[in-house]
Amino acid sequence: MKKILPYSRQWIREKDIRTVVKALRDDFITTGWHIEHFEEKLREYTGAKYAVVVSSASAGLHIAMLAAGIKPGDEGITTPNTFLASANSICYAGAKPVFADIDPETKNISPAQIERRITRKTKVIVPVHYAGHPCDMDAIHAIAKKRKLIIIEDAAHAVGGSYRGKKIGALTRSDMCVFSFHAVKNMTAGEGGAVVTNNEEWYHVLRELRSHGLTRDKARMEKHEGRWWYEQHRLGFNYRITDYQAMLLASQLSDLDSFIRRKRSIVKRYDEAFDGTPHVRIPVEKEYAFSPYHLYALEIDFNALGVSREAFMDALSKEGIGSQVLYIPVHTQPYYRKNFGYKQGDYPAAEDHYQRNLAIPLYAKLSDADVQRVIRAFTKVCRMFKG
Ligand SMILES: *Cc1c(COP(=O)(O)O)cnc(C)c1O
Repeated sequence: MKKILPYSRQWIREKDIRTVVKALRDDFITTGWHIEHFEEKLREYTGAKYAVVVSSASAGLHIAMLAAGIKPGDEGITTPNTFLASANSICYAGAKPVFADIDPETKNISPAQIERRITRKTKVIVPVHYAGHPCDMDAIHAIAKKRKLIIIEDAAHAVGGSYRGKKIGALTRSDMCVFSFHAVKNMTAGEGGAVVTNNEEWYHVLRELRSHGLTRDKARMEKHEGRWWYEQHRLGFNYRITDYQAMLLASQLSDLDSFIRRKRSIVKRYDEAFDGTPHVRIPVEKEYAFSPYHLYALEIDFNALGVSREAFMDALSKEGIGSQVLYIPVHTQPYYRKNFGYKQGDYPAAEDHYQRNLAIPLYAKLSDADVQRVIRAFTKVCRMFKG
């Protein structure tokens, strides 16, 4: 049995491990200086004014919604072509998740479709940079500005990417931006996330929400009885990460650009190998986009190939190649159907993309030989089923 190459995986190097071991020997393994150290690095990297590191992107999206004041009765617009967490975060705030269909070219939320879904209750737009490819932020920003809506970017796939030459997280066309450091994402601490913003008040609120709602900031207190004093002014959570995770993230961030360079060179080889393969469409990168390629997601017309996706994936698997379908359109989930009345057919572009979607292995640690293996296996499997 050949070792299966997964669709994505982390790259933890010896120097990362040494950093974590060092952090573990410190006096404080949580709420210590490493958290602020990594936040500083992330600010420098993205160009955002403030960064708050949290236990996951899901946690980050949740507190971003609360900091933005999203509440029951409000509506938030996001894409169906995403992981559950993007829409769940709107529900966490008690608001109604509303989907806007995707642009079939980029698979990202379509600005024209956003406009169609806006009501008097709409308060927030959550664009997701699918596979790392930035959304059409100029158009989304123009819509939000006209209607005074808040934009919270779900950049779980997009740390290290750029939009029109500005890093994702620079906040030139959004209010907050949320990153994920889950193990399959561009950089990782196993679990982890961050929210960046340029809004000082939101920054303080995000920090409080991360830790039970408590503050030790004298300027934000009613009184101060002594050095032990803290106050709670809102209901928060424990969404902290540990110091050794923050140290691992700082170490991973220093490698992020080289990881992305490596991934982009693999993408170039995949694109060249697969472009023109019958019934297979390679991903696009628009002129405004620099994608960190969290995923390499192809569109495959399985009907035309005369094979089920399951059988196609089995055949790849026999060649030692893992693959994955990302994502099942969120509005088709029982939770969203039962609670909000969505149904199959509501978002045809996202549903059509789902039928064709298949992500094949892409991560910085893939060797040249691995890349060759993927190309050979994928081409072989496509030929097997052709006709
Ligand atoms: C992974 C992911 C999340 C959630 O990230 P966690 O850090 O695992 O909570 C949110 N949105 C998208 C688009 C994701 O892919």
